[in-house]
Amino acid sequence: MESAIVLLIIKVVMAGGVMFYLYKDARARDHSWFMWTFAPIIAIFTPDFVGSVLAVLFIFILYTMTKPKGELVKCPHCAKKIHDILAFCPFCRQSVKRECLRCHDTVDWHADRCPHCGSMSLTKF
Ligand SMILES: [Zn+2]
Ligand SMILES: [Zn+2]
Repeated sequence: MESAIVLLIIKVVMAGGVMFYLYKDARARDHSWFMWTFAPIIAIFTPDFVGSVLAVLFIFILYTMTKPKGELVKCPHCAKKIHDILAFCPFCRQSVKRECLRCHDTVDWHADRCPHCGSMSLTKF
């Protein structure tokens, strides 16, 4: 009976750790974070211990394969880590990219001139 409790604790810690990681990463990438955060819960309800380890591993691998590729960068407004392809921060909802008024390309927030056409007239927010 005691070992069943120990195994349950290991399952909860394991699922909790993966949930925490998936929440942070999926939220930063604005990638169905709600679904990914709660997916590892099934591991806690899997009666077989090996089965629950495999379930967590499967969810983790599936996430790694399907997540949007790219680097995480700091939001210039709220300093949270966000995916660099996003135009809006998923946390504070503010724009994190500027637009070039000449060629209408998106420009990095910290840039003072457009890397595509060299124009210095960028949108300000
Ligand atoms: Zn932000
Ligand atoms: Zn431009």
